[in-house]
Amino acid sequence: AQVVQAEFVKSSVKTEDCPSDGLPEFALVGRSNVGKSSLLNSLVRRKKLALTSKKPGKTQCINHFRINDKWYLVDLPGYGYASAPQELRMDWNKFTKDYFLNRSTLVSVFLLIDASIPTKKIDLEYASWLGQNQIPMTLVFTKCDKRKKKKNGGKRPEENMNDFQELIRGFFETAPPWIMTSSVTNQGRDEILLHMAQLRNY
Ligand code: GDP
Repeated sequence: AQVVQAEFVKSSVKTEDCPSDGLPEFALVGRSNVGKSSLLNSLVRRKKLALTSKKPGKTQCINHFRINDKWYLVDLPGYGYASAPQELRMDWNKFTKDYFLNRSTLVSVFLLIDASIPTKKIDLEYASWLGQNQIPMTLVFTKCDKRKKKKNGGKRPEENMNDFQELIRGFFETAPPWIMTSSVTNQGRDEILLHMAQLRNY
């Protein structure tokens, strides 16, 4: 399940503009600053691949990376900028939602949640929306290497993770699979790749 080849393919602003070769894909999404670029780089063992999607103008796009010529990793725009008012945030998510609902080759969404801080309302809203719309989802807890800090509510990553799973329980018929990760120690990297390989073979 290792990545031997990773190639940036294109940035799209609409679901219809995404690659049409029918390869299966997995989308990474999460609050901005959750550690999405770091995880993407860790998965492909490169320091700068995700920079392509951090270029100005591309952060608001659907970015496709072809892996081993067989499947895609998709980097979606981060959500939840602290300064944006509620309605704006939801509206800004419109094309991402269209992608989730209409992209037929999407195998699973990987929702990234920062395990080093207490649960954020915006993350619950996102998980709830995915659950209600029955979008296949895997939870990826990031920054699991971080120690508890008083200013972060004084909880360990495991505790924040359990709290989050408890809070979203009602949104799903069966609890989504979850993986603990750290881009610092590369914890969870092989597990994610293996999970993706298993999902592709269903
Ligand atoms: P993005 O905005 O979601 O793409 O987040 P980045 O990947 O740019 O990371 C945001 C910040 O969190 C940066 O300062 C990273 O160094 C830090 N970060 C990302 N992943 C980890 C992690 O696994 N552990 C720790 N301790 N810090 C991380």
